[in-house]
Amino acid sequence: MFIAKVQYDTAEEIQDLHSSLVTTFQSGKTKDLAWRKWQLKQLWWMLEDNEQEFMAAMKEDLNRSNIESMITDFAGARKDILYHLEHVDKWAADERLGDTFLAKQLRLARIRKEPLGVVLIIGAWNFPLLLVLQPLIAAITAGCCAIIKPSELIPSSQALLKRLIPKYLDQSAIGVVCGGVAETTSLLELQFNHIFFTGSATVGRIVSAAAAKHLTPVTLELGGQCPAIICKSADIDRAAKCVAFSKFLNAGQICLSVNHVFVDPSVYDKFTERLQYWIQTFLNGQSTIDTAIVNQSHFHRLSSLIRNTGGSILCGGSGDLETRRMEPTVVFGLDMNDVLLKDEIFGPICPVIKADFRSAYTATKQKGHPLAMYIFSKDRREIHEILDNTNSGGVTVNDVILHAGFSGAPFGGVGSSGFGYYHGRYGFNSFTHLRTVMNSPSWLERALTFRYPPFTATKTPKSLKLKANFKRGESIQDQRRTLSSITRKGLHVAIAVAVSGTLYYYLYN
Ligand code: NAD
Repeated sequence: MFIAKVQYDTAEEIQDLHSSLVTTFQSGKTKDLAWRKWQLKQLWWMLEDNEQEFMAAMKEDLNRSNIESMITDFAGARKDILYHLEHVDKWAADERLGDTFLAKQLRLARIRKEPLGVVLIIGAWNFPLLLVLQPLIAAITAGCCAIIKPSELIPSSQALLKRLIPKYLDQSAIGVVCGGVAETTSLLELQFNHIFFTGSATVGRIVSAAAAKHLTPVTLELGGQCPAIICKSADIDRAAKCVAFSKFLNAGQICLSVNHVFVDPSVYDKFTERLQYWIQTFLNGQSTIDTAIVNQSHFHRLSSLIRNTGGSILCGGSGDLETRRMEPTVVFGLDMNDVLLKDEIFGPICPVIKADFRSAYTATKQKGHPLAMYIFSKDRREIHEILDNTNSGGVTVNDVILHAGFSGAPFGGVGSSGFGYYHGRYGFNSFTHLRTVMNSPSWLERALTFRYPPFTATKTPKSLKLKANFKRGESIQDQRRTLSSITRKGLHVAIAVAVSGTLYYYLYN
């Protein structure tokens, strides 16, 4: 199938698109819940009607099989549309405020969910659809207008989005800009109400600086360097299978791929043996991974890492520049200063480092917070110790990547892996302003007369008199006792409620 490549947008076209979206947002059209639901459904039909074309585009860009594109891009976007349609009414509804049930019934204050306005979504290339459509789904659900800017490194997917989005979605509110650095720079000169960026930390800094000029809030979904820590109590075969899988999926070009592995010295030999076994099994008689490296420049970058590592190659090590397909490569005998561990690898190279779990988490802490961590262990104390001593965007224990697809879970980085969240309600919140609205009835005016000058009252008004509900001189140990006594009291109340409920049931039924 031939998919036409697109022309990049000119600065004037970008400016015109932005102006027309500003006008649409000001008209209030996109705030209508019916519009939001209609657009989400239209997006669904765009994916359903053109599934084969999208698969073909991703095959052209990354030589991906259909099933892989289904796992990585397609299913996630469609699942998200259904989830957002199911929850949009609830998320967008006003929330009554009040610190007790009774206070809420007075309806004095509420939160209105205001869409932020015209937003910009900039995507990376490794998930051509998901990284622009998932934030777009959240922006539509929140009632925003949006411009999406897919990566220029996936030309076929970019061209298809440029052709299909205006055909299915409301062109007055949603647009696609095609282009690279120059076009993104033109976009960043304009004033948006939110910028949602997925990509590298280097470009994240450029986006942040441009946003700061307009005081525009940003969400930065940045890169990985995600470690896997294999403890001696782990199921070693399962750990090796999961690590190998993460280097095969999209050829390891995923922000959530295992970047490097720490293995306890006592299980090191078994782990490397099982890792090679799973690599051979997944290769199924071939020497390279089917999915291609995105372009020759990234292929050269990865080849140069393999050439310059101080470690030794256990398996793999080469590939075919013409087809951009690489051998899965395992490197051992390297230290933390090795070239392979300097930046995110983003490819099918797997450095394996001998280290117990304490040295592993110490080394992890020194590198800044990764986007994800993978802990393989059957010992709960070990798992908790690693969690207590590190931070990361998310964690999956005894598997890889799964936490990112868990329904209702927030997704986002921390520190060097980014900030802000999306997926489900968290995406809706990223594009929403929580606006407090307070109604003041006349009885409140009477209750608040003390606030007016001249401030001559000699007695402190009742509503300003606050009493501590804790004793003077409490120690840190008292806080621990108080907490455990609260837990005990809670348990007693729960038991009492359960017992009386059961008695009531048997006596009166
Ligand atoms: P990138 O930062 O090079 O490009 C991302 C986007 O920024 C592209 O659309 C590109 O056109 C634009 N861009 C590039 N240079 C620019 C510049 N100088 N000025 C303005 N815009 C510019 O990232 P990439 O190579 O497309 O993607 C790989 C990176 O993305 C990896 O670091 C990966 O970890 C990260 N990533 C993160 C997540 C996440 O959810 N946290 C998901 C996928 C990828």
